[in-house]
Amino acid sequence: MNRTILPGATIGVLGSGQLGRMFAIAARRMGYRVHTFSPDSDTPTGQVSDYEYNASYDDLEAVSSFAKGVSIVTFEFENVPTATVEAASQYAPVRPSGMVLHTTQHRLREKKFLSKAGFPVVPYRHICSIEDLQRAVEEIGYPSVLKTAGFGYDGKGQSKIRVKEDIVIAYETLGGQEAVLEAFIDFECEVSVVAARSLYGDFAHYGVIKNEHHNHILDVSVSPATLAPEIIKQAIDISCSLLETIDVVGVMCVEFFVTKQGKLLINELAPRPHNSGHFTFDACLTSQFEQQLRAVCGLPLGSTELLKPAAMANLLGEIWQAGEPNWMAAYRFPNVKVHVYGKLEARRGRKMGHLTALADSSSEAEQLVRIARNKLEERN
Ligand code: AMP
Repeated sequence: MNRTILPGATIGVLGSGQLGRMFAIAARRMGYRVHTFSPDSDTPTGQVSDYEYNASYDDLEAVSSFAKGVSIVTFEFENVPTATVEAASQYAPVRPSGMVLHTTQHRLREKKFLSKAGFPVVPYRHICSIEDLQRAVEEIGYPSVLKTAGFGYDGKGQSKIRVKEDIVIAYETLGGQEAVLEAFIDFECEVSVVAARSLYGDFAHYGVIKNEHHNHILDVSVSPATLAPEIIKQAIDISCSLLETIDVVGVMCVEFFVTKQGKLLINELAPRPHNSGHFTFDACLTSQFEQQLRAVCGLPLGSTELLKPAAMANLLGEIWQAGEPNWMAAYRFPNVKVHVYGKLEARRGRKMGHLTALADSSSEAEQLVRIARNKLEERN
C-alpha cells in the first residue's frame, strides 16, 4: 500500500482554531486541499480552508461524511471525543492515532503513562473524593494544585491549595469531576521541546524553547533557550525517547518545569503543533505546521534549522479592550511578523494573534517582541 499522501490530496482537520489555521496555510502552500470540522462557522481554520463542516463532534454521521471526503484526518486540539476519532478512522487514517489522543487528553492517563514508562513527572495523586484530597494534601504538602483530569487547558479547571482551608473550596470547584492533585513546583523556569516523529520513526526537534506564562496562559516564548547544555541535552533526549515510546506520528510538544536544582519534570504533553512553536513559522526552515503535514502524510521530515534567534508574544483579547490594536506601530518594526487569527470576537484571555521577532540573539528578540507588543496598545 502506498502510504504517502501527495499534493492534490485533501487533509481533514478536526478542530478549527489558530493551530488548524496555520496548518491549513502550510498545507495549501504545498498544494493540498484542507477540510475542517468543528461546531462553529467562519472559524480561524475555516477561513483559510477549502471546505468547513459545521457539526457537533458527537454527530457521528457528519464525522463519517467528513472523513469519507479526505485522504487523512489530523486534529488541532486534543479535546476531540474518542468516539469522533473512531468514527473518522473507519474511512481515513487518523494521525496521530486515537490512542495517542486518548492518553494525552486526560491528565491522569497521561501522568500514569509517563510515570509507568519512567519519565520524570511532577508528584501527583488521583482524586475522586474529598477524603482522597485531604489524604493527598497531607502526602504532597502545601502548596499544591488541584486540576480536573479532563478538558483542562490554559489553567482552566485549576485551583491552588495554599492552606488547609482551601481544600474544601478547591474540591467544590470540581463539581464532582475526577481530578489530579499536583505538587506546586517552585520552578526556575518553564521550557518546552516541540518535536516530530515521521511515519517511519524519524525524529526531528526545534531545540529547547523558554516559556513565560501569565495567568496560566503562555505569554512569551524564546528560542533558543539559554540554559546549561546538560539540561538542553536532557530535555531533547527525554522528548526523543517519549515520542518513540508513545508511538506518535506527527508533532508533539513536551512541556517541562526546570526546578531550582536543575531537574526536569514533565508538566504536559500536546499531541499537535503548540503555541510555544509558533516562532517556527517565521524563524525555521520548516515550520511546526509543515512538519505536522509532512509527518502525517508519510513524507520525510523537513530541516528544523533556526534561521535566526526568535521570540513570540501572544496577543490576547484584552489588547482589543480599548479598540483595535495600533497595527501600524507593530508594522514599523521590519523584523517583527504579525499574525492575526481572524477570530470574530475578542474576549479576555482569548488568543487572538501573536507577534514573532527575529534578532541576532534570543534576548534581543525577546526585548523586541515585547516592545512591539506594547506599541500595539499605544493608540493616539
Ligand atoms: P497547565 O494547564 O497544567 O499546563 O498549567 C498552566 C501553567 O500553570 C503552567 O505552565 C505553569 O505556569 C502553571 N502550573 C501548572 N501546574 C503547576 C505546578 N504543579 N507547579 C507550578 N506551576 C504550575
